[in-house]
Amino acid sequence: MHRFLARYIKQCVILFSLLMAFIQTANVIANQDSIKDVCIVGAGASGMYSAFKLKQRGYSVAVLEKAPRVGGNTNTYYRKGNKYQPLGERYLTNKPFVEELSRQLEIPMQALPEKTLNTIYVDFSRGLVMENSKPSWSEWWSPGGNYKSSLARFESLFSLGVNLPEALLEDLLLNTGDYLENNGLDVSFAIPLHHLNGFGNIEQLPALYLLSNLSVAEIESINSKKCLVPEGGMDAIYKKIKNHLGEENFHTNTSLKKSNRIQLSRNGGIGSRIDIEAIKIDKKVNFSCKKLVVSIPPILSNLKWLALDEVERDLFAQFQSHDYWTVILKIFWLGADEELVNLNMVSGVNAVKIPGIYKVQPTQFKNEFSITFGATNGMSRGSVEKQIRHDIESLNFGEERTSMTVVHHERSVNHSPYGLTVSTEAIRNGFYSHLNHLQGRNSTYYVGAAIAGSHNTVDVWEHADSVINRYFPVRSHSD
Ligand SMILES: Cc1cc2nc3c(=O)[nH]c(=O)nc-3n(C[C@H](O)[C@H](O)[C@H](O)COP(=O)(O)OP(=O)(O)OC[C@H]3O[C@@H](n4cnc5c(N)ncnc54)[C@H](O)[C@@H]3O)c2cc1C
Repeated sequence: MHRFLARYIKQCVILFSLLMAFIQTANVIANQDSIKDVCIVGAGASGMYSAFKLKQRGYSVAVLEKAPRVGGNTNTYYRKGNKYQPLGERYLTNKPFVEELSRQLEIPMQALPEKTLNTIYVDFSRGLVMENSKPSWSEWWSPGGNYKSSLARFESLFSLGVNLPEALLEDLLLNTGDYLENNGLDVSFAIPLHHLNGFGNIEQLPALYLLSNLSVAEIESINSKKCLVPEGGMDAIYKKIKNHLGEENFHTNTSLKKSNRIQLSRNGGIGSRIDIEAIKIDKKVNFSCKKLVVSIPPILSNLKWLALDEVERDLFAQFQSHDYWTVILKIFWLGADEELVNLNMVSGVNAVKIPGIYKVQPTQFKNEFSITFGATNGMSRGSVEKQIRHDIESLNFGEERTSMTVVHHERSVNHSPYGLTVSTEAIRNGFYSHLNHLQGRNSTYYVGAAIAGSHNTVDVWEHADSVINRYFPVRSHSD
């Protein structure tokens, strides 16, 4: 009797295993997309724009994104009553490109609502509140200002990527502090350096990164108060692209595991196929496409799924990334029209000491403030929140604000890895020219802030636009 029962159980186990294997295979097969023209990895600014543009040019796409949502750094915090607070991108530089995109997507653009804030300059590293410190913007920003005239020498090198000449302009390799001093820029006033928030300790960073990230167009947009916001917020753009291309082409919650980039001989010509294995939530999925667009920050830890060749590996290994957070905090002693801006008076260029707070700014929500924070690599959420709380509570306002209580964190968003940079030596050895030469290698194309050489969203879109225009010719249905 026992033997019979044991055999029966064994048979049941075998049958169950076979059934599970069948279900798993069925899942894989069910999710196996038909071959797409292009797989796009990453659904941030560059990935979403590339998808839109490729579709316009007649290509089918699959967008693979590890997060539960599309939009990358366009991260909006919604609350009841239609109130929302951007925790990432807030505005777009006013450029003809945005006007055209707004027309194509049928999303009207509005001027960034002007809010006059009372800026309190503080030095969080020493708990100091700076009295009567209202720095003048003029020498940095005015039409004939020193920054603009110094940038004029280089700006063409930073249009659509970093395109440096053979004979390097050594000024670009000076560290940012020396560059500012040599160009007569007041280093006691580091507000423009807040455009490099998220780039770590910028004092030692080659000046190239300041110049490539802060363009004349952006300065002019800010100066003339003409920065733009899409109707419905930044997310409206990516929601529209998703609807336009069809939800089924966007695979969120998808963790890439392995890939194979195969060169094929076809009809006497050469083609390619890229096979990608991934896990979507808890199911295995396979994707196949003819070309690959990588839009994620290209550091090695982010590219484990892509069997890199030696040249790719060598280049991507040189990128250093930085950690960048936004945290929402309740602060009861700060007014809804006040912001705190950190100027670290100890640093040569008054740049924020990392880890440290960049800015504390009011949100739509009562008593809640949005805090941007530069962290050291891999700093945990708990440590970030703890330091923010400590730094804010340690500010010495004297008698003025007595009950300085920080109540609790409402939300924290990690934007890392952010601000990818390479060393002066790497730049001198032609890093950016080698990087630009990667386009098309192994049927793979690269877009995104690190390749565009700028974190400005419009620059990132324009760069992606140029890559797609150059390498993906318009196709007719018969192609
Ligand atoms: C707090 C903050 C405020 C900002 N404000 C502005 C602003 O007001 N105006 C402006 O012009 N710019 C602003 N920026 C900069 C702008 O957001 C970025 O430059 C822009 O998002 C870069 O786009 P991207 O496509 O390169 O990267 P991302 O937007 O970061 O997109 C990358 C995407 O890839 C995904 N991903 C990463 N790794 C993988 C993987 N292994 N597999 C699959 N998917 C992966 C990510 O989840 C993400 O969705 C701000 C940035 C931050 C952080």
